[in-house]
Amino acid sequence: MSGIYFHIPFCKTRCFYCDFHTSTNLGLVEPMFDAMKKELSLRKDYLMNNTMIHTIYFGGGTPSLLTPEQIGELISLVKNYYVVSEAVEITVEANPDDLSKKYLRELYAHGVNRLSIGVQSTNGHILKEMNRRHGVKDVFDAVYNALEIGINNISIDLIYGVPNLSSLLWKETIDSIISLPITHISAYHLTYHEGTVFHRRLTKGQLKPVDEHESLEHYEILVNSLKKVGFEQYEISNFCKDSKISNHNSSYWNGASYLGIGPSAHSYDGNSRQWNIADNKQYIDALNQNKSYFEEELLSNVDKFNDYIITSFRTKWGVQKRMIESFGSHFLDHFVAQVQPFIQSNEVEFNGDGWEMTSTGFIRSDLIIEKVFYCEQ
Ligand code: SF4
Repeated sequence: MSGIYFHIPFCKTRCFYCDFHTSTNLGLVEPMFDAMKKELSLRKDYLMNNTMIHTIYFGGGTPSLLTPEQIGELISLVKNYYVVSEAVEITVEANPDDLSKKYLRELYAHGVNRLSIGVQSTNGHILKEMNRRHGVKDVFDAVYNALEIGINNISIDLIYGVPNLSSLLWKETIDSIISLPITHISAYHLTYHEGTVFHRRLTKGQLKPVDEHESLEHYEILVNSLKKVGFEQYEISNFCKDSKISNHNSSYWNGASYLGIGPSAHSYDGNSRQWNIADNKQYIDALNQNKSYFEEELLSNVDKFNDYIITSFRTKWGVQKRMIESFGSHFLDHFVAQVQPFIQSNEVEFNGDGWEMTSTGFIRSDLIIEKVFYCEQ
């Protein structure tokens, strides 16, 4: 079971919190599209054993800047090069204001069956402060347009812990989002990444970050509000209804192999990690001139163990005892010793097969993961 990720590195405008690899120079969209098709053909043997593709994901950047025909062509190429499951999940990330009925109808005709809509807030003032280009009405229109044409697996992305986002405004955003007929919500706390406008303003003292108490309050409002209306928290930042988990993200967390196409995209084949050049022009030139366009790292047993912990421990499935044992008995001894204090503090539970974080454990997940990491002496 494997997945293919396409990174579409273009946006019309730059959001003030975003550090993803993306560019507002839309003049390179066509040559980028050609370079990505070339990369896909060059790497058609990357996923070993002709493994079946269960998920195709268009992320970015803003994939909805591609035409439906371009997205359809990339899907067709994947189907030419790989064995693709009949039930393949094909997700496109999109900004709400790109999702007209015409655009959605064409995407659907090309096989797209899931949308991940970057909403972030339903408060007009907060949207402006984040430099989002859509309005509140666009969000509602996008969801109902998608449903009308037949796409009913819809995820919405939200951000909390944003300056000037009071708990009341955050609750209002959540209430308006859960009034929509959607299946999935991903919600992340704002991070001040270096190089972003928010980070610059923070270092100049021009904005006031939320304090720890407000952060925690936002998280609790999120978890409690979603639980009340039937959303299951299956990963620290991901919630679904009717078991509609993101199969794509879940396969990352379950250690499946994946191929990432496009600048900055990462790939993993079970033994090594590869990451593409994070520069649009250099990526295009390298593909055109048949030069190397990625770096690679072979994974040691310790790397694989730590990867397993970091990807699995934040999910509802937790880490499995038999998986930890498969790395070697000293990994299990190390893990059991390190996790003990968190069991005593009720932040981690042993369920007979493995260990899961409790809801209070999720809040301190970074610390817990850091403590159970294995470091070679
Ligand atoms: S639309 Fe998405 S990728 Fe583009 S700048 Fe905003 S957050 Fe970043």
